[in-house]
Amino acid sequence: MIFMPKISKLNRNRIDLHVHSTHSDGRLSPQNILRQCSQERVNMVALADHDRLTPDLRAVARSLGIRLVISTELGCYRNDPTKMEHPLHILGYGIAPSSNKILNKLAALDESRRNDCSRFRQALEAEGLEVREEDVLREAKGQIPRRFHYSGATAKNPNNFELLSRLSPDPKLKYATLRQIMSDCVSRTSVLSPAEATNLIKSSGGFPVLAHPCHKSDGWPTPDSPGLAEFIEEHLPLGLIGMECYSSHHQSHMIPQLIKIATDLNLAITGGTDFHGREGERLGAIKFKDVSTFIDLTDDMLNPRGCQIIYSASDLG
Ligand SMILES: [Zn+2]
Ligand SMILES: [Zn+2]
Repeated sequence: MIFMPKISKLNRNRIDLHVHSTHSDGRLSPQNILRQCSQERVNMVALADHDRLTPDLRAVARSLGIRLVISTELGCYRNDPTKMEHPLHILGYGIAPSSNKILNKLAALDESRRNDCSRFRQALEAEGLEVREEDVLREAKGQIPRRFHYSGATAKNPNNFELLSRLSPDPKLKYATLRQIMSDCVSRTSVLSPAEATNLIKSSGGFPVLAHPCHKSDGWPTPDSPGLAEFIEEHLPLGLIGMECYSSHHQSHMIPQLIKIATDLNLAITGGTDFHGREGERLGAIKFKDVSTFIDLTDDMLNPRGCQIIYSASDLG
């Protein structure tokens, strides 16, 4: 049963449970994020880098009066993961920082993804397309290049424009054409299914939460999209404990709908900005105005069936 006392001393507090650092595609180092949290009065933050565990900086965070939740955001795909269609992200909160299980698996994913790169290049070059390493690395922004980085680098290279317009007469389909060219290049060991991601988080001491289900470029476009509630129900037995209802990716009218789905399925309601340190982004800047509740991801809350809403959104201002 959910309860929601108003705790006025939290008036000035902010939390942000979805933040990326330079350990994946964010622009600020974890230390800089903690400093910025302190300036912005964000007193709880989850560093959730893509397919990475950031260093354990809980002592540094504590010294700044911030609670740091060791987290990750695992990218996976519904259906056949090697097709890399229908992506979705699963956040893992409260991971044991030295868990060999997840560290070994993430290292194996890296290794497999590095091996995929030469296959992407060969497939594109076999079609006569030019692949410039510097373009690919620019697209990947410090991460190991994936298929979509190769697509981006190839499509933006002016030397490919003419050939690409012949391979894909409809310009809107050029990325689909490039994906098709590389369709058999993704190893099964380079991708995770949602069940694998959920199990990995759980077996590393963490709590899996479905990230931004209505992100514009993945997941389900609206909360009533077919399959969303079914997906969650299917993954509850695997340990999925929550859903990121509050997200900068969600339009405000979607949030109450997502909260209803989460509540009906007895899921924790979480939220975060998906901060990457880009121009105009602000830590803890989720808009709460159309909704009334938020669940704190505290140590106590990290008990899937003992979730407590510790303050109301109106307290957050
Ligand atoms: Zn994401
Ligand atoms: Zn993210």
